[in-house]
Amino acid sequence: MTATTAKIIWLAFMAAWVVLRQRPGWHSRKTPVSYSGRDIRERMLMAASFAGLGIVPTVYVAAHFPRFSDYPLMPVLTYLGIIVGAACLWLFWRTHRDLGKNWSVSLDLRERHTLVTTGVYALVRHPMYSAFWLMALTQALLLPNWIAGPAGLVGFGTLFFGRVGREEEMMMSAFGEEYRTYMGHTARVVPWLY
Ligand code: SAH
Repeated sequence: MTATTAKIIWLAFMAAWVVLRQRPGWHSRKTPVSYSGRDIRERMLMAASFAGLGIVPTVYVAAHFPRFSDYPLMPVLTYLGIIVGAACLWLFWRTHRDLGKNWSVSLDLRERHTLVTTGVYALVRHPMYSAFWLMALTQALLLPNWIAGPAGLVGFGTLFFGRVGREEEMMMSAFGEEYRTYMGHTARVVPWLY
């Protein structure tokens, strides 16, 4: 196992993720948005996440920058990264299947939006964000660099903590008591814990 191999594995993981998002994206875009909370703050949070999960690791893999923060590869971390990455892809696939046409990249409600409480949504109310946490963890495990590795945790963490409360408020104003009850018996991102 070399650093180059680990980088190629990260690239393959990201390519698989992009492929996995194509169909749901195309599918849900056909349903018009009836309410959108995409303000400047939300756009900045999305930019932070995109930078941490996309731009910083891509620059690192493509241009080997920043080089000074490299650390020696530990194969055990790479193998863990492969396992976490596979779990992450499965969870993305599953959440898209459960959420169907209700999916959007941001704080949007679609026409005929339904509240999903089944499948993985019966355990946690933000399983797609659980998958994003796993994606950030995969990056941290696969890239042997103190900046490019944890950048996804910082970037997605910014989006997550800046968005999740607002999303729940949006869902409460759209679904009222139904969402409050749903919140009562689900965790946010980690089943039974948080
Ligand atoms: N936070 C969820 C969904 C991410 S996609 C998750 O992590 O799995 C973002 C959009 O999904 C939000 O704009 C909201 O409209 C919608 N959404 C969130 N939870 C939902 C649910 N339980 N049922 C239906 N739509 C939901």
